[in-house]
Amino acid sequence: MTTPKHLEYAHSRISNVPDFPKPGILFKDITPVLQDPRAFNDAVEDLASHLNGANIVAGIESRGFIFAAAIAAKNNLGLVLLRKPGKLPRETHVVQYQLEYGFDSLEMHQDALDKNDSVLLIDDVLATGGTLLAGSELIAKTGAKLTNCAVFIEISALNGRNRLSSIPVHSSIIV
Ligand code: AMP
Repeated sequence: MTTPKHLEYAHSRISNVPDFPKPGILFKDITPVLQDPRAFNDAVEDLASHLNGANIVAGIESRGFIFAAAIAAKNNLGLVLLRKPGKLPRETHVVQYQLEYGFDSLEMHQDALDKNDSVLLIDDVLATGGTLLAGSELIAKTGAKLTNCAVFIEISALNGRNRLSSIPVHSSIIV
């Protein structure tokens, strides 16, 4: 896949780690991107250029938080957290989703969004698409509008985009 010129440097900072966290997974390690001011800023700018009119940014735990928080602060927008189970202290909406083995779920405070909100949903990596789909369903429960999903890296071989055909998705870098 061709990486846009303005993201070539950020792309060069992604580290590919074979067999992490288990055999057969090629882990996209973004920590070198975060450590590098130019790469981090280029990534955040690209994701933020796809707000599509959103008034608030939602980030998925945990690496999605990093990009979402930077986008929100730079654009003077609020930030909503989509968290792993049992982390949020007040009433939550919950969506369960399937993993390769077993299930996981995402939670969001019930009062985090309402029907007047337009939301940009952020994660670091799109793999099979289950996480972003669950995030979009969580946002839909509140009546808020999803203007876009944006991820820094899309792993095209895993076909996550097919699963997300009903929602808009921008990927900065497609590998
Ligand atoms: P999925 O639900 O399969 O699209 O997986 C996406 C979520 O899992 C994201 O929150 C990623 O942080 C993480 N993830 C999945 N595969 C990878 C990978 N190869 N490298 C880094 N993170 C990954």
